Amino acid sequence: APPSGAARPRLTFLGTGYLGATYAICFAELGYEVLGLDVDAVKIATLAGGTVPFHEPGLDELLRKNLASGRLRFTTSYQEAADFGDVHFICVGTPQRHDGLGADLGYVEAAVTGLAPYLTRKALIVGKSTVPVGTADWVERIVHRHCDPALGVEVAWSPEFLQEGYAVEDVLRPSRVVVGVRSDWASRMVYSAHKGLFDLAAAEDREVPVVVTDYATAELVKVAANAYLATKISFINAMAEVCEAADADVTQLSQAIGYDPRIGHRFLQAGIGFGGGCLPKDIRAFQARAQEIGAGEALRFLHEVDLINQRRRSRVVSLAAEELGCPAGPAGPDFAGARIAVLGATFKPNSDDIRDAPALAAAVSLSRAGADVHVYDPEGMANAKTAHPELSYAASLDEAVQDSVLTCVLTEWAEFRTADPARLGALVRERRVIDGRNCLDGGAWAAAGWRYRGMGRTAMT
Ligand code: NAD
Repeated sequence: APPSGAARPRLTFLGTGYLGATYAICFAELGYEVLGLDVDAVKIATLAGGTVPFHEPGLDELLRKNLASGRLRFTTSYQEAADFGDVHFICVGTPQRHDGLGADLGYVEAAVTGLAPYLTRKALIVGKSTVPVGTADWVERIVHRHCDPALGVEVAWSPEFLQEGYAVEDVLRPSRVVVGVRSDWASRMVYSAHKGLFDLAAAEDREVPVVVTDYATAELVKVAANAYLATKISFINAMAEVCEAADADVTQLSQAIGYDPRIGHRFLQAGIGFGGGCLPKDIRAFQARAQEIGAGEALRFLHEVDLINQRRRSRVVSLAAEELGCPAGPAGPDFAGARIAVLGATFKPNSDDIRDAPALAAAVSLSRAGADVHVYDPEGMANAKTAHPELSYAASLDEAVQDSVLTCVLTEWAEFRTADPARLGALVRERRVIDGRNCLDGGAWAAAGWRYRGMGRTAMT
């Protein structure tokens, strides 16, 4: 229920990466006074100077507009954040640990111990980072150790479902708001901190479903959702493997089964699998945590989901070897300097995020197997070059495919989907294409003289 007469709380976002920066900017747009904090001083200076340090459609304009409004500021000072905020959102990273499958909670701990000692009044700390079940409890204990219990600082957990590439829309018009709380006060504060979202929805004649629950359920909602999505992708990729063995076509299979409304078409495209900073590490951390709490058996299938996903990346390499007739050496195929264009480096289009990107992983494998790989991506070049300086990069699509004997489309950017196969055909040495995302019109490429290979489909010529 709405709180009576609660003023708009002032919000801080601790960690201004993809999640935190998008939230800080969008919540300023909704009318909140917002302070974004990060330990990365360069990132903070970039944001304060009006530039989003990553690619996200529409976000730059909103950043500049809200900096100008005075509602949005950035800092590296935890003291300033503690003085300013009524509600503090934890948006730091929770990457996979180096020594196992579990999540590294070091950044969450650092954010909480950074903030808590400076708090001088009652405030709410809301976790948004994706975390193992049990984390909110642990954060609550840390808070109580690091600030005066008399202040009554409380904790809540509100997992985040935004998708990169659609982040602004997903934050302003979320599919749902989920929050785990322990008190009515926390529940009311969360409501006040999201009221701008609900007002926008009402003005647009929409409703935002809200699920108020306990900490553990809120934490699990996020990893359960990601486990489901990962499973759906690996399911269709497993069908692709079967289709390859049976000379069947997984794109038609997927289309046909997706007409069943219980199944649906979304997230049912076979390809080179999922990647990014979330799905792979989240399903691993989920398994690790389930094991710790005695529910490991329930999630054994996620191990298989992960394996199917990894096999897709190697499948691109074996398909390339098949197409080029590369001799198999003891350590896999030898591409012997064959010039291969890799189109795509990011884990998905409309993003510059290359974390655990299947496209880049395949490019690295091809290069290690002796291919002369030339990578091009519309937005991911700077990040890819930093992560993999050993690869060659082309300044344009045309430059990448020039003189290649094989073209691999591994991220489904519009620039690749709409490229004219006849025009590209004049640039390459040999017209061979592997469509790692089944995103091209294979018939049109074949008609333009290409040999087309999709994933889970027979060749088209
Ligand atoms: P990110 O790496 O882009 O951003 C994390 C930020 O936290 C970095 O800027 C880092 O400098 C900062 N940071 C680290 N330690 C800090 C500290 N002690 N105090 C303040 N800032 C600190 O990561 P991200 O993609 O924004 O993800 C953040 C969390 O959100 C993760 O748990 C992720 O799983 C979850 N999530 C991400 C997405 C997404 O699409 N990116 C979607 C849903 C959930």
